[in-house]
Amino acid sequence: MQIAIEIKTTKKEEIIDITGQVKEIVKKSDIDEGICLVYVPHATCSVIINENYDKAVCEDILATLNKIIPLHDNYKHDKIDNNAAAHIKAAILGPSQSLSVHDGILQLGQWQGIAIAEFDGPRDRKVYINISR
Ligand code: ZN
Repeated sequence: MQIAIEIKTTKKEEIIDITGQVKEIVKKSDIDEGICLVYVPHATCSVIINENYDKAVCEDILATLNKIIPLHDNYKHDKIDNNAAAHIKAAILGPSQSLSVHDGILQLGQWQGIAIAEFDGPRDRKVYINISR
């Protein structure tokens, strides 16, 4: 089964926790054992799994990516729509994550959450959640 959720991002860059929404979809799926794929069909956005307890982790991730990947660095794509750095960040982190579902529960660690990382907002984003046996 596939469910799409819609996320409105409000900043140029941000990390938005979607753990609760994904857990709810897994619960409603009635699939006890399987894989949950979380995927964003966007070229300047990523799905990450990391700590969602201390919000500073998200700030550190964004700050470190900005150190590694300058906003402008004579990127060829900047001549097209001026957002090459956002594409590079999204390519490094990737558009999806797969999680194990066991006994009907997402097998996240105690401190782990699922989030989308926006690199060229604000925008309306779609997230596809596929759960399969
Ligand atoms: Zn672009």
